[in-house]
Amino acid sequence: MRVWFFSARQVLWWVLGCLTLGIFLGTKGIALLPVIGGNVQTGISGRTIVIDAGHGGIDPGAVSAAGALEKEITLQIAKELEDLLKKAAVYVVMVRHGDYDLADSSETNLLNRKRQDLNRRVLIAEEADADLYISIHANYFPSPRWSGAQTFYYEGSTQGEHLARTLQTELVRHLGPNNRLARPGDFRVLRDTTMPAAMVEVGFLSNPREAQLLSEESYQKQVAAAIFAGVLRYYGE
Ligand SMILES: [Zn+2]
Repeated sequence: MRVWFFSARQVLWWVLGCLTLGIFLGTKGIALLPVIGGNVQTGISGRTIVIDAGHGGIDPGAVSAAGALEKEITLQIAKELEDLLKKAAVYVVMVRHGDYDLADSSETNLLNRKRQDLNRRVLIAEEADADLYISIHANYFPSPRWSGAQTFYYEGSTQGEHLARTLQTELVRHLGPNNRLARPGDFRVLRDTTMPAAMVEVGFLSNPREAQLLSEESYQKQVAAAIFAGVLRYYGE
């Protein structure tokens, strides 16, 4: 039996030689390099996520019997979610950060304003080349008995559906019992955005108890935490 001894210098030259020839351990190690160095991204950090606080400005959205405005509730939850995502090193794009809509101030026709507003929400997400689009709204129904958060996706969007289901699971887990399931919904911001998108209806303003909860800062934080948990879960974290 012959025993080979190599000096550190010999080993170094051997490794360098193999690297140059691309034959290092059957090139398996080298073959992995392009994957690691490429654009394969996992996890949440470094993502671009658009948060769309529904309504704003001249458009209050739904109004509860006690006068709670959907546009204020959606903005507060959006801001809480923004904080949580930023702490997780996400690049957050807020569709709005105050009480305004995105239409031209010169546009007085309400229908045109709404159209322009929604167009621009979609445009912001497309121009940001966002990874996810999360729209926040509150529900309203003529009967006061309905309650519970519910998430929507655009039918046919596999990733949108996955995102919506994941968000729905976390909303139910964080906010208490709720039999609602993620459902397809033909909403403009879901239909026209090209990235996975979901709309979270955070609860019913037509239900007095839920309207009261949604007006409270602690509950708004809870809703934001639920959405954040859903996004983490979507990215497998
Ligand atoms: Zn709404």
